Amino acid sequence: MELDQAGIRALMDITARPELVFTSGTGSWIQDHQGKRYLDFVQGWAVNCLGHCPPDVVRAINEQSQRLLNPSPAFYNQPSLDLARRLTQASCFDRIFFANSGAEANEGAIKLARKWGQLHRNGAYKIITFIDGFHGRTLATMSASGKAGWDTKFAPQVDGFIKAPFNDLEAVEALIDDETVAVMLEPVQGEAGVVPAENDFVRGLRELTQQRNMLLIVDEVQSGMGRTGKLFGYQHAGIEPDIMTLGKGIGAGVPLAALCARESVSCFEHGDQGGTYNGNPLMTAVGVAVFDALTAPGFMESVNARSQQLSSGLLTLSDKWAMKGERGAGLLRALVLDGNDAGEIANAARDRTPEGLLLNAPRPDLLRFMPALNVTADEVDLMLSWLDESGAAVRG
Ligand SMILES: *Cc1c(COP(=O)(O)O)cnc(C)c1O
Repeated sequence: MELDQAGIRALMDITARPELVFTSGTGSWIQDHQGKRYLDFVQGWAVNCLGHCPPDVVRAINEQSQRLLNPSPAFYNQPSLDLARRLTQASCFDRIFFANSGAEANEGAIKLARKWGQLHRNGAYKIITFIDGFHGRTLATMSASGKAGWDTKFAPQVDGFIKAPFNDLEAVEALIDDETVAVMLEPVQGEAGVVPAENDFVRGLRELTQQRNMLLIVDEVQSGMGRTGKLFGYQHAGIEPDIMTLGKGIGAGVPLAALCARESVSCFEHGDQGGTYNGNPLMTAVGVAVFDALTAPGFMESVNARSQQLSSGLLTLSDKWAMKGERGAGLLRALVLDGNDAGEIANAARDRTPEGLLLNAPRPDLLRFMPALNVTADEVDLMLSWLDESGAAVRG
């Protein structure tokens, strides 16, 4: 099959993409327009938690698409009730608002915190977020993100986000004033290069926010839905946040996200929040299928077994290549290189023949691994050997 150059010219050129068009996928494998297969350790950026075209998800789409697509967000539909009930039963949260993307869920979290501040904290509205944090690409979530330059791109942006260094409780405390309503963090900073929050730090934030009558918001768009080896990342620290956002894995590849809040914080009044597609039954039916797969007996045990295997395999490679080790949680992991050739290694892995390997290099000196949560032991071993080979090809 030829590349559709006219189609490519018709798309906005928003990122450098390889000259490949992906056409099909199954599990941990994806195929391009020329029929070449790739072992996929990107999985749509930690989105496809059950791999490509998982049968449970395909079945849910087929069945729901023949039953009801959209009654209107102003009416109840059963799949959204089924998913909301599951999420509240599995977490410390009582109320769910469904959204279509992680950024939209985070916008909702910011609005909810500000509303709570208006009602209970005399209009406090500032939210402490973190350097190198990532919360999305809308104006407010870019402003909340701690990526260098993101608070001035497309200025003027949304006011009220104060940046603290990650894993530094004293710095957070020093930034609090009467107008601070919340602290918002990723339990594992994903885009920053897979930097886990220390459990003590998270526990300290919980105590601090409670003492100062502030909210604790966890952005679990990447770390939630089993990615870190527990259903939700906050559970590693044994705390209960006030607000959580979910995205990515919750839909296993379809646009679904969620804003979760405890009853005492769930203060939207009619008209404050909504959206055309929010909670539509096609997406929430997928969410139910995904949730049931992730919480099936033995599933999380196998995530943790694959995590161990991946972690020790990466450490072995790091030692062999005299790199700087590996880190992460569950099946969100990173290999820290000793040079700035992560992009070259990822390209060499992709271009290897006859089969390629898809890896992500979010930083010049770091490779990120976010396979399907049901990746097999053989696939992890295969990835490790192809990574070794690709490293050798680049470094000679
Ligand atoms: C991906 C991501 C987002 C943004 O989600 P979108 O669905 O792309 O809007 C927000 N927060 C975190 C932690 C993410 O990883």
